Amino acid sequence: MAWTESYHCDVCNSPRGDAEDWWLAWTDLTTPPEGTEQESLRITRWSHSLSHSADVKHLCGARCAQTFMDRWMLSEGARR
Ligand SMILES: [Zn+2]
Repeated sequence: MAWTESYHCDVCNSPRGDAEDWWLAWTDLTTPPEGTEQESLRITRWSHSLSHSADVKHLCGARCAQTFMDRWMLSEGARR
């Protein structure tokens, strides 16, 4: 059975073409030397193996990566 991969940008929903340079983003936790752990945003260039990860976001370019970061910062800012 063929497995057809199709990615869509998690911000603008455009489909990914083969030659396009996309970005991946996800959050993990970082723990300051003093204090409690907090969420941090990670962005990296497209990696085929990372792109399968369940909680990773697919971003079609810098503009959508910035939009994603803006949204994340707003949600983090609301926690303080
Ligand atoms: Zn996009």
